[in-house]
Amino acid sequence: MTLYDDISLVYEQLQKLLSEAAELREHVGELERYNAYLQQKLLDEQQGSGFEALNSLYNEGYHICHAHFGHQREEDCLFCLSLLFHEGRSLPEDL
Ligand SMILES: [Zn+2]
Repeated sequence: MTLYDDISLVYEQLQKLLSEAAELREHVGELERYNAYLQQKLLDEQQGSGFEALNSLYNEGYHICHAHFGHQREEDCLFCLSLLFHEGRSLPEDL
């Protein structure tokens, strides 16, 4: 085997490695984008379910505000309503 053959072989292997590296980089990029999508989806679901829990607790007739949390309410409470309102969602059903 001549030196030229050795260099050709190394060059060929290097090309193959570079090609594999490019494929891996592309694959990592896809996985990172998918991971970011899943994290955002999880975050949205957690925020959504927390809000739904508070909303239904309020609709069942309990305070969700810091001052009276968990106590039964006789009428609408402005603190509770502002909390629900600031969640950026619709107001409770009975309003
Ligand atoms: Zn309240």
